[in-house]
Amino acid sequence: MTAPLPLGISFEFFPPNTDLGREKLGVARDALADRDPRFFSVTYGAGGSTQARTFDTVKVVRENGVRTAPHLSCVGSEKSALRDLLQEYRDNGVDSLVALRGDLPSGMGSAGELRYANELVEFIREETGDHFEIAVAAYPEAHPQAPNFERDLENFVRKAKAGADIAITQYFFTADAYFHFVDRVRAAGVETPIIPGIMPIINYTKLARFSEICGADIPRWIRKQLEAYGDDSQSIQAFGTEVMARLCQQLLEGGAPGLHFYTLNQAAPSLRILDNIAIDG
Ligand code: FAD
Repeated sequence: MTAPLPLGISFEFFPPNTDLGREKLGVARDALADRDPRFFSVTYGAGGSTQARTFDTVKVVRENGVRTAPHLSCVGSEKSALRDLLQEYRDNGVDSLVALRGDLPSGMGSAGELRYANELVEFIREETGDHFEIAVAAYPEAHPQAPNFERDLENFVRKAKAGADIAITQYFFTADAYFHFVDRVRAAGVETPIIPGIMPIINYTKLARFSEICGADIPRWIRKQLEAYGDDSQSIQAFGTEVMARLCQQLLEGGAPGLHFYTLNQAAPSLRILDNIAIDG
């Protein structure tokens, strides 16, 4: 069965640290641009990177003409600096953003003038009207700092109503978590399209560590299987592709409007998944 995909596919990159990393990014960008994505995005802050490095990477990533959204976080920033950055983006042809609160490194600095992503979305709309398509983050399994699912849902709804055009989810491995979240958002009267974030399974140790931090649940049956493979990367790759392709197919057949891949700056893992799902148009 094939599934329609009104908001297409999109791919996320991070700013590379080394010459080799920059070379690999170019190769991944070219291979993924061939799949006609709706947009690329470039993260901010991970590994101590600055907003300038995000923008430098945006310039590289959009060389093939694919619309590219920098991620922009507000925590620790003053409004004046954010205002200047928004102007710089406008002056340089950027028309979409992923707007986030972000995370301060523990014990470092003050939260800044905007404390949550909903305040950042409001600020961007006040300053720039409808210039930017704004994406925000969504957490089908609840944000790790949220006291509970209901409170996090209320906060998401507030953020969407502040003027988000689309939302991209944290990655997850259970389709029902996504469908339940979407149902609850719709019941709260919010129609913002919610695009599932897809994390290819490449390395179990790294995936387990990162999932712990960001609150993504790896179901026992997936964990057990990946643990059993140990260092056998071929088996991890084959199993990971099968699991994620099945998840994507379920999501699309259930009405997900698009798929956003966390590429980790590699084309092949995302492409293997895409090659194993049926998409309309
Ligand atoms: P918010 O929506 O502000 O939520 C943060 C927490 O505060 C939640 O627990 C929420 O329930 C609560 N909250 C929200 N609003 C309020 C309010 N008004 N009052 C009280 N509580 C509130 N991190 C990076 O460092 N760089 C990136 O490039 C990056 N890209 C990401 C892309 C996606 C698609 C996703 C899903 C996450 C990304 N992250 C990134 C991680 C993100 O920065 C962290 O999850 C961060 O902790 C929260 O950011 P947010 O925008 O979701 O925050």
